[in-house]
Amino acid sequence: MGDAEKKAVLEVMDSDVLSAFLGGPGQYFNGGAKVQEFEQVWAQKYGFQHAISVNSWTSGLIMAVGAAGIEPGDEVICSPFTMSASATCALFYGGIPIFADIDPVSFCLDPASVEACITERTRAIIVVHLFGHPADMDPIVEIARRHGLRVIEDAAQSPGVVYRGRPVGAVGDLGGFSLNFHKHIHTGEGGMLVTNDDDLALRARLIRNHGENVTEQYGVADIANTIGGNYRLTELQAAIGIEQLKRLDGYLATRQELAAHLSARLSGFPGLTPPVTAPGCSHAFYVYALRYSAEVMGLPRHLFVKAVLAELPKPKGVEATALVEGYVKPLYFSPVYQKQIALGRQGFPFTFRPDVKYRYEAGLCPVAERMYEKELLLSPIVREPLTLADMDDFANAVEKIVTHRDRLRDVFRDEPERREVFTPLAAANLTGAR
Ligand SMILES: *Cc1c(COP(=O)(O)O)cnc(C)c1O
Repeated sequence: MGDAEKKAVLEVMDSDVLSAFLGGPGQYFNGGAKVQEFEQVWAQKYGFQHAISVNSWTSGLIMAVGAAGIEPGDEVICSPFTMSASATCALFYGGIPIFADIDPVSFCLDPASVEACITERTRAIIVVHLFGHPADMDPIVEIARRHGLRVIEDAAQSPGVVYRGRPVGAVGDLGGFSLNFHKHIHTGEGGMLVTNDDDLALRARLIRNHGENVTEQYGVADIANTIGGNYRLTELQAAIGIEQLKRLDGYLATRQELAAHLSARLSGFPGLTPPVTAPGCSHAFYVYALRYSAEVMGLPRHLFVKAVLAELPKPKGVEATALVEGYVKPLYFSPVYQKQIALGRQGFPFTFRPDVKYRYEAGLCPVAERMYEKELLLSPIVREPLTLADMDDFANAVEKIVTHRDRLRDVFRDEPERREVFTPLAAANLTGAR
């Protein structure tokens, strides 16, 4: 946050209008001046027909599922390797998350696994552009078109990223971005839903703001899923967002430069595979994802992480986590899927079709499980205000561990296993690490 954001906030304060939304017919149904300006600049920057601001991207995901017409018993194909809301959004409309496996290079949905999950009950695919890299959209959209499915893109971690020349978010039907504190740019909490489809945009706007009050005003004949919440962004946040968006390209360029430097340094080391950017795509480096082979390195992953962290200079008074194991536990291991209890206590929506049994057992998505348990390493250091010198510190620490890994094996012989929990906040703690 800089002077531009402060000035923008003060202007809104002076106007006295901190939010202009009204949940009924009239000119303020779609919000006030700053909200509409923020949406326009976002849409224009990337060439989207519609950009619709929201108070969180979780709200945006719920709106996307509702706008896509998901209803009880519909199956929605999801990634198990993502933030929980990328799948639970389906449950809010009675949809059933069905987990397809991920690709071991992009960590995003594997099109072949998606296709294998399709039944006559499938209605949508929720694709996540994980860690800043796009999922392989062309085959996924092709599968969706062949089966009459909607494609929703969770691009929370990938603002401004392109897939084969097209900006992510609306390569499929609709999608969007998070503006929470941990993301590239933020408004405290917030998000932006985007689409090129007029009908989906209207339905999303209805769900954002008590749609039940205005379906007649907008001549909506099919009122299914148009009851609304209050998922509105404030004028204060929109004013901040307008300024933050101006910074995004610079942030992305910095991350790409830092990542390129780090990858060049790490690519020669045995057992480490730096992240890959697919042809025609860009990478936002929300985090820097490395693949690790304990067999090749000759050191268990948790000991490698412990050793690297011991080598890195510590920031003042904070526990910095420059390297963590895995990402989230595959989502289907969480109680909502294990117990199949989501809305109420009777098992809805998992019991909505009594003839269908949903399975969320271990082994469902072997690649996601392997990444979580064995192969993935994440570093949040590829971002401002860190510099190329910080990348060198990190690479030097890795190099030292790699060089002395045979001796480390003896040092660590009696070490109990432990796992750092992934938290993007750790990145902020790295400020001044050197
Ligand atoms: C951050 C994030 C979300 C949720 O966004 P909020 O704005 O915090 O609600 C959803 N999906 C992914 C992949 C995310 O990283």
